[in-house]
Amino acid sequence: MQVGVLAVQGAFAEMEAYWREEGADVFEIRQLADLGRPMDLLALPGGESTVQGKLLNDLGLFAPIKERILGGLPVFATCAGLILLAEKIDDPGRRDATRPEKWFGVLPVAVKRNAYGRQLGSFTTRGDFDGKHDFPMTFIRAPAITDVLSDEVKVLSTFSGKPTSVRWRNITAFTWHPELNATA
Ligand code: GLN
Repeated sequence: MQVGVLAVQGAFAEMEAYWREEGADVFEIRQLADLGRPMDLLALPGGESTVQGKLLNDLGLFAPIKERILGGLPVFATCAGLILLAEKIDDPGRRDATRPEKWFGVLPVAVKRNAYGRQLGSFTTRGDFDGKHDFPMTFIRAPAITDVLSDEVKVLSTFSGKPTSVRWRNITAFTWHPELNATA
């Protein structure tokens, strides 16, 4: 399986290591030419969604990637990647300051950035995921999914009563970091 990992900013090295561990052939997406390679899955890593959004635009990657996502390319996204995909960013009062210049806006959920606090917002908890109990879930300045905007969205895990990972059509997206604890 050929996995393209968006590698413009953030925790792409961890995402690459995870997919290599899973036996995939991994390549980095840094420029338009990289999108010419065969790709079975696109992985969007954690990081800073505002910076990623800006770089995607500056590098001319934004529109072609969005087109591929809408065309059905399977997507695996964590944290900042989920924020870029979300249809709504719930950030009252700071809308302009905190929104990426452009974001994909294709996944019918609303998210709130840095929902667990900006500085001390990193923690690991355990919960139900993928038929397993006690699955480790590491949150790093994570967003919360505050609303699910379509019946087609399947909630895969929850924390404090809120969805923390979802699947919708070709997109699987996490507020936490499965790539960090996959083997724990
Ligand atoms: N707080 C980051 C943002 O708002 C996301 C953090 C992460 O990806 N680990 O973009």
